[in-house]
Amino acid sequence: QRLIDLYASQITPLFGNRFAAGEMPKLDIKREDEIGQLSASFNLMVEAVNKRDEALKALAIKDGLTGLYNYRHFIETLDKEVKKSSRFGRPLSLLMMDIDHFKNYNDVNGHMQGSVALKKMADVFLRSIREVDIAARYGGEEFVVILPETKLEDAMTVAERVRMKVEKEEFPGEESQPNGSLTISIGVASFPDAATEAAHLIEAADMALYKAKSLGRNRVCSVYS
Ligand code: GH3
Ligand code: MG
Ligand code: MG
Repeated sequence: QRLIDLYASQITPLFGNRFAAGEMPKLDIKREDEIGQLSASFNLMVEAVNKRDEALKALAIKDGLTGLYNYRHFIETLDKEVKKSSRFGRPLSLLMMDIDHFKNYNDVNGHMQGSVALKKMADVFLRSIREVDIAARYGGEEFVVILPETKLEDAMTVAERVRMKVEKEEFPGEESQPNGSLTISIGVASFPDAATEAAHLIEAADMALYKAKSLGRNRVCSVYS
């Protein structure tokens, strides 16, 4: 009964319906009796739940295999970044990357080894870009990187560095690839020259990627070059 009274007299007025709404505020009750102990334990639980919430949120925006951001997070982030660039009149670039002849790699080495290669590929990307750049898995063997504050010329340099690193990286069984190595093709598109909104920027990068593929793969292209 004392607890119920305490709840009615102290907790409800303090927090109203915040718990019901899914919030997890801590109790600010400093007492030496068992009610004080109870609220201290309650606060420990609140801390644990909040920590678990954070971890779940972080998981929900990541791709399970590679640890890169997932498609949904990429789309949301690109939209935000393009709007930011537009508001502040700043450049922004997008890299769209696709592994060359990856079907062959899977056919020769098996799907499991293919997944290992995808993870390794993601690690190479992370090692080649800056902290502020956002790398995501766009689809099965397709990846994207958002380069904020980066104009086309500089994005081409970054892309070329990534392409070269992937070519140099050793992947088990890559000898049987058509060009003797596991490689990627990259399409680059920049805001605002190639497109002024997110969806069009993706289309432009995709077009540039298609060009890189048709010119022979293992290369970097923009819509202009
Ligand atoms: P290219 O891009 O150079 O034109 O040739 P490709 O062989 O890479 O292209 P295609 O689109 O024909 O095949 C893509 C292949 O990628 C199909 C599938 O075997 C493989 N792939 C796609 N997603 C995954 C994945 O999540 N895991 C594995 N292991 N393989 C995947
Ligand atoms: Mg593909
Ligand atoms: Mg491919």
